Amino acid sequence: MSAPGSDEHVRIDAAGDFPGEPDGLERLWTPHRMVYIQGEGKPADPLDAEQCPFCAGPQRSDEDALIVHRGSTAFVILNLFPYNSGHLLVCPYRHVADYTELTQDEVLEVAELTRTAMRVIREVSGPAGFNLGMNQGAVAGAGIAAHLHQHVVPRWEGDANFLPIVGRTKALPILLADTRRQYAEAWPEPGGEGRGA
Ligand SMILES: [Zn+2]
Repeated sequence: MSAPGSDEHVRIDAAGDFPGEPDGLERLWTPHRMVYIQGEGKPADPLDAEQCPFCAGPQRSDEDALIVHRGSTAFVILNLFPYNSGHLLVCPYRHVADYTELTQDEVLEVAELTRTAMRVIREVSGPAGFNLGMNQGAVAGAGIAAHLHQHVVPRWEGDANFLPIVGRTKALPILLADTRRQYAEAWPEPGGEGRGA
């Protein structure tokens, strides 16, 4: 892997160069994104809003921040630490930790964006099911406990076995960029129906 700041950020490797069964796919390596995968994007002080990735994300481009859709009080972003490919997060723009702190408008939009996210993931990725939910507090498993986020995790038969190994260590960085684009393109226009809905 080349060092960040060098010219050689992207490298293509043939599948046959790796141990295991060649699958004919080329791997596009994006080492500058691997810092996220390895956890360096997490804030040192989780209570500091200035370090919060869910506050910083909307200030960057959709492509850089992996934002799928921007609503009026909440937005939809790909999880940089996905449990599964296509794992989305629905977040209010405001830096609030607890579900009870959301305004009525935010509660409604988080719920509506969650439903639309399910429809978009179904249309693009065809999962067999979903896990939906919010972890409230670090003790309950919240990685960024200070900024509320609703998980939308698509599930496939047998996904728990191979994706943490294959997905997280290899193909995930490019899959995140691809997945973001596919979901953003499938996201319905305001007030309209999604493609194929
Ligand atoms: Zn925040």
